[in-house]
Amino acid sequence: MLEVPEYIKNLKPYQPGKPIEELKRELGLKEVIKLASNENPYGCSLFVKKAIEQEVLNINRYPDGGAYYLREELSRFLEISPDEIVFGNGSNEVIEMIAKVFLREGDEALAFEGSFVVYKLATVATGATFKEVPLECDFSRKLENLLSDITEKTKVIFIDNPCNPTGFANKKEEFDEFIKELPDHVLLVLDEAYFEYAKGHGVPDGLNYIHPINPNIPQKNIIVLRTFSKVYGLAGLRIGYGIARKEIIQLLEKIRQPFNTNHLAQVGAREALKDQKFVQYSVQQNEKGKEQLYEGLERLGIHFIPTFANFIMFKVKDGETVFKELLKKGIIVRPAFGFENWLRVSIGTEYENEKFLQALKEVNGVC
Ligand SMILES: *Cc1c(COP(=O)(O)O)cnc(C)c1O
Repeated sequence: MLEVPEYIKNLKPYQPGKPIEELKRELGLKEVIKLASNENPYGCSLFVKKAIEQEVLNINRYPDGGAYYLREELSRFLEISPDEIVFGNGSNEVIEMIAKVFLREGDEALAFEGSFVVYKLATVATGATFKEVPLECDFSRKLENLLSDITEKTKVIFIDNPCNPTGFANKKEEFDEFIKELPDHVLLVLDEAYFEYAKGHGVPDGLNYIHPINPNIPQKNIIVLRTFSKVYGLAGLRIGYGIARKEIIQLLEKIRQPFNTNHLAQVGAREALKDQKFVQYSVQQNEKGKEQLYEGLERLGIHFIPTFANFIMFKVKDGETVFKELLKKGIIVRPAFGFENWLRVSIGTEYENEKFLQALKEVNGVC
């Protein structure tokens, strides 16, 4: 018999959604609008497409395992040292690397209730315990509630800021206070997948905690996660990264697979980074789409949580039915896992948002 620990047996495999083409065929739909995964509805920079077309010729070669050029360019862009970055096959892989290095049976990881699901998956797969700290009744989060749950066993704290799926974010002042109190045996994972969207709205820039310039803020163990999957529009290429002090990065590098990020992803990320106009455009459009959806949801009398990101969580009477009925109309949203009868919609183009609101209007009258 193959012996497997209970904590592996108890894991449930991730349930992927159906491919769009399959859904069209099955439901006999001409058009399907996917607002399910917080992807950039404007695609990606044209420079990325051009560069990838050219570089397809080189995919017989293994990628550059050290991501030399991307590392150089990103470190200049972020004004940090090249050895303070670790790349992953999506930032999801960096989360896994963190769990592998810092967690084992007997250890604990802490996160807020309803955080990004991957934290739990990565933690539990190591045999460590995943402990969830409750939210306030309006789904906001008090960072000090994390502090009071820290024990000697706590090795890692995961915070997605903004949070996926609620869209809530804690402010810079709250983080400043929280960081001061963080014990030295804990690694804080500050996941800023939606940083570009949230920037300028009072949220912290996690990089300022890695080497704090402010004398009131001590240096603590922190790794910031960012990704090319969201505003940069490269979700299908799978590339993200972590930024931390060199000592922390070196630990992660020990267990990183040699060729974890592929050649086209590295090339795409370099071009995407150069095209900050595209990023700006995407963020501006997202602000407009946010207003459009806020107004539309208000008109329908649907309760939603104001968002710091490119998605909105909203409440319906019967989440499962509304989800399914929207699907029949060719609109894919997501159940907000952990929040019964709440759904999450990604902010799309003006046209997509309108289609979504129209479909929701029709469905919401029924269920
Ligand atoms: C989308 C998302 C990510 C990005 O994952 P990738 O693996 O980089 O695609 C990370 N964290 C959160 C909270 C997210 O919502």
